[in-house]
Amino acid sequence: MNNIIDTSFSVSYNYPTIFTSQAFDTDNDTLVTTLQRLNEGRRHRVVFYIDAALATPQLISQIEAYCAAHTDVINLAAPVKSVAGGFEIKNNPEFIIATLKELGELHIDRQSFVVVIGGGSVIDAVGLAVALLHRGARLIRMPTTVLGQDDAGVGVKNGIDFNGQKNFMGCFAPPFAVINDVSFLTTLGDENWFGGFAEAIKVSIIRDGSFFEQLEQAAPAICARDISVAEGIIRRSAELHLRQISKGGDPFEFGSARPLDFGHWAAHRLEVISNHELGHGYAVSIGIALDTIYAQKLGLITEQEYKRIIKLLRALNLPIYSKWLEARNEQGELLVIKGAEDFREHLGGILNITLPTSIGTAIEVHELDTSKVAESIQELRP
Ligand SMILES: [Zn+2]
Repeated sequence: MNNIIDTSFSVSYNYPTIFTSQAFDTDNDTLVTTLQRLNEGRRHRVVFYIDAALATPQLISQIEAYCAAHTDVINLAAPVKSVAGGFEIKNNPEFIIATLKELGELHIDRQSFVVVIGGGSVIDAVGLAVALLHRGARLIRMPTTVLGQDDAGVGVKNGIDFNGQKNFMGCFAPPFAVINDVSFLTTLGDENWFGGFAEAIKVSIIRDGSFFEQLEQAAPAICARDISVAEGIIRRSAELHLRQISKGGDPFEFGSARPLDFGHWAAHRLEVISNHELGHGYAVSIGIALDTIYAQKLGLITEQEYKRIIKLLRALNLPIYSKWLEARNEQGELLVIKGAEDFREHLGGILNITLPTSIGTAIEVHELDTSKVAESIQELRP
């Protein structure tokens, strides 16, 4: 007798990423029509979480006025909640527990909505709490940084750092929808503005040479904070990231490959080594520079291609070096190299590192030559 019951099924997901501006102007119907994708004609219970960095009394009252103007669709279940952003929320498991309690007390169920507005850390942490609530309530993400809108905020990952490791505690849970309101980008500081374009450069180098050229042309306008030029770049970057999720064959990363994580093995480590003095975007920029020189040393790309990449990073005011690259442990080993081991462990199984083979194409390699990495770091030093 066969003693195995084999089970196989697939679940299809569909969610929109919608670009808009001034989402909480009462005549902007983006959020209302997004909610109406579910049971049109019904009122939906909605809770808002907003990054404390953005939570001005004006914005909070604007959100409340928006809900009051659309009571046919929105039933505001609680006053808008402001939560700490950045490192503070991303490293705080207590926040997850407190949020679950809070949402439980509000009787937010699997048919209710949570709208999260903020930077990547707030999106990641609130997303994790919502994914755990009754095994998953409906989440609408409204990322407010370039990085959130062109990469992390449009995807399917939720999580927080734990025990000194990035995203150690997390899950894959596609959102109900993503709303990219570009008007939030007008007030960003330099790091949250330029840092986010590192992810666009990353995806262009490994996937789309013409997008790389588009970035080269757009750099002066991005430096001048031209939102309409930036929006075109953000949209294309989001599209390439979403294509990897929908068409890459492994949206929940069951395999150990993570093909869009070019530059990230070092970046994740640099964030930890620097005690988060380096944010993700800047760390990714340095990671790209390091892996680009390394790829040239391996003969994968030409010197000319390497110079073009470094030039574009610089043109977008992105760093290519940090003193943290040269931090060493008591044995004299470079701390950043331990990043490759953490990266392998986070993915499980074999090490996969994406390296460019031209501007627009890439391969996976499965080992790092430690002495060549050290040489590459020396070359980046100013
Ligand atoms: Zn990233």
